[in-house]
Amino acid sequence: MRLAAAVGAGVVVGAATGWPVAALIAGAGCWAVPKLFGDSRDQAGLIARVEAIADSSGWGWRAAGVRFSLGFYPADCCHWGVYESAKSVIWIGPTAFEDQTRLRYVVLHELAHAWQYRQNRFAEFITDYTAWGFTTIGSALEAGADCLANVWGAAGGHYWTCPAAARALAARRFSGDWR
Ligand SMILES: [Zn+2]
Repeated sequence: MRLAAAVGAGVVVGAATGWPVAALIAGAGCWAVPKLFGDSRDQAGLIARVEAIADSSGWGWRAAGVRFSLGFYPADCCHWGVYESAKSVIWIGPTAFEDQTRLRYVVLHELAHAWQYRQNRFAEFITDYTAWGFTTIGSALEAGADCLANVWGAAGGHYWTCPAAARALAARRFSGDWR
């Protein structure tokens, strides 16, 4: 999944890390997109659902300048979710709304990426997750985002099943402990 994401997102390489956007790949293609985002009143309700999930994380994402946008990331269609680091925008695609469990996971995983970028500790993230075999920044951020999403209450993981020790580490980092 990481490889596919890297290839798909490679058109907009970020200056800081070379890892432009962190994306979740949807299994289905664009042809399967449900007509979820048509009505503007529906949109407001969907955004409210997304923001309520983000608020449940306990991270002050609004103050950190993070924004949500409904729809597929235009430059790289059909991921469940994408964190566009250059604009600090989290794209939530229609396929993320398949069920509440997936929506919660996608929102919190992408929010975890936004948190990661605010820390500016990319070397530490690699060091942290090297113990579990994630030795590049892209894979370390995906592994860490799955773990932090779990800490924030999401079920499961798309990139791996975050073990208890890694989850505890993610919780410690989120609390500001970098020792
Ligand atoms: Zn990700």
